Amino acid sequence: MDSSEFRKAAHSAIDEIIDYHDTIHGRKVVSTVSPGYLRKLLPSGPPEEGEKWNDIQKDIESKIMPGLTHWQSPDFMAFFPSNASYPSILGELYSAAFTAPAFNWLCSPAVTELETVILDWLSRLFNLPPCFYSDGEGGGVIQGSASEAIVTVMVAARERYFKRACEDLDGEAREAKISSLRSRLVALGSDQSHSSTQKAALILGVRYKAIPTTMEDNLSISGEHLIQTLGECEREGLEPFYLTVTLGTTSTCAVDYFQEIQQVLRRDLQPAPEIWIHVDAAYAGAALVCEEYHHLTKSFDAFDSFEMNMHKWLLVNFDAGCLWVKNRNDLTSALSITPSYLRNDFSDSGLVTDYRDWQIPLGRRFRSLKIWFVLRSYGVSGLKSYIRNHIRLGMVFHDMVLSQPDLFEILAPPAFALTVFTVKPATEQETEIPFENGVSHLGAEERKVATGIILEYENRQLQRANAITKRVYEAINAAGEIFLTGCVVKGVYAIRVVSGNENTDEQYLRKAFDILVRTTLEMQSKTEV
Ligand code: PLP
Repeated sequence: MDSSEFRKAAHSAIDEIIDYHDTIHGRKVVSTVSPGYLRKLLPSGPPEEGEKWNDIQKDIESKIMPGLTHWQSPDFMAFFPSNASYPSILGELYSAAFTAPAFNWLCSPAVTELETVILDWLSRLFNLPPCFYSDGEGGGVIQGSASEAIVTVMVAARERYFKRACEDLDGEAREAKISSLRSRLVALGSDQSHSSTQKAALILGVRYKAIPTTMEDNLSISGEHLIQTLGECEREGLEPFYLTVTLGTTSTCAVDYFQEIQQVLRRDLQPAPEIWIHVDAAYAGAALVCEEYHHLTKSFDAFDSFEMNMHKWLLVNFDAGCLWVKNRNDLTSALSITPSYLRNDFSDSGLVTDYRDWQIPLGRRFRSLKIWFVLRSYGVSGLKSYIRNHIRLGMVFHDMVLSQPDLFEILAPPAFALTVFTVKPATEQETEIPFENGVSHLGAEERKVATGIILEYENRQLQRANAITKRVYEAINAAGEIFLTGCVVKGVYAIRVVSGNENTDEQYLRKAFDILVRTTLEMQSKTEV
């Protein structure tokens, strides 16, 4: 393809992309193809001779589009959003054109320097404490995903743990101590943490322990639960070296009790070497652009790292996972290996940043460009209104759910535009509630029997609610008019609805709610037959 062919092809591709976005609301949000559909449509190998762009482009609509689930559709309310805005797409275009994998500063100084500046802008925008700014000992780096960021900081945490535990040792004695510690390391998360923490522990070859949370504590890690788990580790002879705390858990968008955690792990009280605390704010971190969420970062100067995905809810397309660390030396001393072919005077001078030492891969993409374009195109005020509008819409949907108490029950408080609820089984079928007036007036033996009956009844009710919630969720997604996610929280099957892209609007939430009501009534009547 020469320049003039590229010009024509690019115009045509951009036109098609614009048409796709403009008409996305008319497409079925969920792909309904069967597994293996694409192989049947493609030849058994690449063409011997090159093809014309026109012929290649045609296959986007005929072959690829049927297998796409439309994440930018206003009917997409599943998982968490994954935004793609025009300024961000332009950033990707330039990034692809330059393809400058700046693992060292020297490879493309602009790639490194723009990233440092943009992550400093963001750290202030998100109200991170100054210890995370690059003009001190901290700094930010763009990673592919939150999962990648978590593995990276977990490696840094492990190395810092070894370093501090073995400060006064060297040679064989040091190796022996590290070897003994290594077999007892345990990374901590909660039973609500995203699976990426457990996966990181798996990759590092260390144990993983989940701190239990309770519905009473809003599914958040409390100081008390943390103390209990630390005690358990001590009794089992384990070495907790790392903890993920979450701002916006995946199932219900719960926020851990940061201040309590900070108190429990206070540096001056913690037996050295300390536990590395990482804040996972993959989705909800975007809300920190708004001042009303700034109180959430109050304890962050006691924590070691923070990560959020610009590519979820802040208009930057995948991938743009942003990670900040309080002490960049923790990353570079854990991850820096410098063979002769990577050496250069600039790196040796210590005056430049080589981001290869802050991440797992060597090469990297020019991802700050798209964040820069988005920040400049929308402005801070544009981003705040964007997030606030979704949070308002989330409340509108939450109120719709509340308006039908015979059909639905809210499972967790509305948070960051997410509503989590269960479907109620048909009321007519409900049997009389046993011992509705309590059991305290009964004698000990009778009370024991009564408690057993109540538990059995509650369990039956839970099974009925779980069954119908799952059926409603599955029927809706199979129909494909809207796309939702189901989750299981403490044994309760629930439906999650979160609507957060540029095409989101109240009318689509009303449509989703109507579908939910209609499907619930259908399922309730079917169960009664
Ligand atoms: N952490 C939380 C709280 C999440 O909700 C998710 C994904 O939704 C992740 C981590 C993983 O994100 P990524 O796909 O960027 O690895």
